[in-house]
Amino acid sequence: TAGPLATVPDPRDRLLGGLLSPDFDETSCHSRYRALLYRRPSMHAISSYLVSALRRYESLHRRCGPGTPAYARAVERLREPPNASATSSSSAECSYLVWNPIEGLGNRMLTITSGFLYALLTDRVLLLHSGGGDALDDLFCEPFPGSTWILPADEDFPIRDMGKLNGGHHESLRAVLRRGEDPGVAPWLYIHLRHDYSKVHQDQQFFCEDMQAQLQRVPWLVFQSDNYFVPGLFLNPGHERELARMFPRRDAVFHHLGRYLFHPSNTVWGMVTRYHDEYFAKADERVGIQVRKFGWAPISTDELYGQILNCSQREGILPVPNAATGGSEGQPAKQKAVLVVSLHGEYSEKLRDLYRKNGSTGRETVSVYQPTHLGAQRSGEQHHNQKALAEMVLLSFSDAVVTSAVSTFGYVGQGLAGLRPWVLMSPVDRKAPDAPCRRAATMEPCFHAPPRYDCRAKANGDAGRIVRHVRHCEDFPQGVQLV
Ligand code: GDP
Repeated sequence: TAGPLATVPDPRDRLLGGLLSPDFDETSCHSRYRALLYRRPSMHAISSYLVSALRRYESLHRRCGPGTPAYARAVERLREPPNASATSSSSAECSYLVWNPIEGLGNRMLTITSGFLYALLTDRVLLLHSGGGDALDDLFCEPFPGSTWILPADEDFPIRDMGKLNGGHHESLRAVLRRGEDPGVAPWLYIHLRHDYSKVHQDQQFFCEDMQAQLQRVPWLVFQSDNYFVPGLFLNPGHERELARMFPRRDAVFHHLGRYLFHPSNTVWGMVTRYHDEYFAKADERVGIQVRKFGWAPISTDELYGQILNCSQREGILPVPNAATGGSEGQPAKQKAVLVVSLHGEYSEKLRDLYRKNGSTGRETVSVYQPTHLGAQRSGEQHHNQKALAEMVLLSFSDAVVTSAVSTFGYVGQGLAGLRPWVLMSPVDRKAPDAPCRRAATMEPCFHAPPRYDCRAKANGDAGRIVRHVRHCEDFPQGVQLV
């Protein structure tokens, strides 16, 4: 069967309007130039300024990345005694930002994207620390031509035990500021951007303009985050002009950067296309439903199933079975394929039963599929993450998406798709809320733990009221998002 959408791709579109570099070998990564044949065409224009910023970044990464003399010198400089580093850091030719894996794959993709935007804005080279396991192996293709974004495994790498760094570490920004030292002279610093930083203004000063001026002099920054902190970068007036030129539409940051960075490996792409060709290729319309349950927001299976059905039928995403009759004779019914992604199998089973019994007459036929139901999250395992990525990518091929509030897995699917989802709102006292779902105001992910520290006021403030395009999230009101 013909997998791709019917439209013949414009040759210029192969590079998504200049978002993708043409400098890659196609066989090493099938998905890079082919995902566009499966996804709805993006409705969101890319600024030429972003395109040139990406090309500039690629040449920086090529010049400074692992394997280059500049990289070797930068690592060597980390070994120099502390008093020598003050002079050498000011003359550093390349500077780096090292990402560390924490939490699930959705969180990881959002923090990689946030780190990448920060790297773009500050001329740093983004490198991913694998965390010692195989969780990143055979998951993504390399995004930058002629180089790698993986920090080489090196037992002698001078910054030790990166996975164990925490906010109180001697080399953390927090500790340096508490000791009253100048962060700008450190050879490297650890930046703690995990949600538990919320009471620590020294960590949150990362988002302040004057702090950024000092950090600019530090050759190596290592960070950990479990949050999409892109909206935080928009709070800094020092980045305002640059960001406005890169993203005239603030609400498409993840959409563009995510499609630039995340190309599933050939193994994952094989999973995606096999599933797509078998179940979705022939459908007239594809609906994605992402069902995520969180321990902090308990709800029974029946209650949540009711919420999903209520939402989808109320919003016209799925037909009401008994009302689905009445199509004019002779006209073939429209085929709707529903992709359910969830750790649990019950929701797709119930939906499948409902439409199998009632759904094959009338204007629409509904078929329901779920690729996996893995039961529990195991984000340290390679094969588990490959399946999760395959499902996020499949979700992004949908024509309409229903997601679960607060889930970064859902944010990635909607963002890659370029769609504002219908969001299943969190339960209240174990019950579905009165409004089962809401159409999101933006396709952007929510930054769940924005800084409370207001840099201008030098006191606690409200990150949702500082700049025009950063507002409180609908699905998680204490967070903020770009609109
Ligand atoms: P979040 O916890 O919903 O914000 O999303 P994350 O992706 O950060 O973490 C959840 C992890 O649980 C995922 O990365 C997967 O490993 C697993 N998971 C959750 N939902 C699904 C699903 O629908 N399909 C698959 N394959 N894995 C899932």
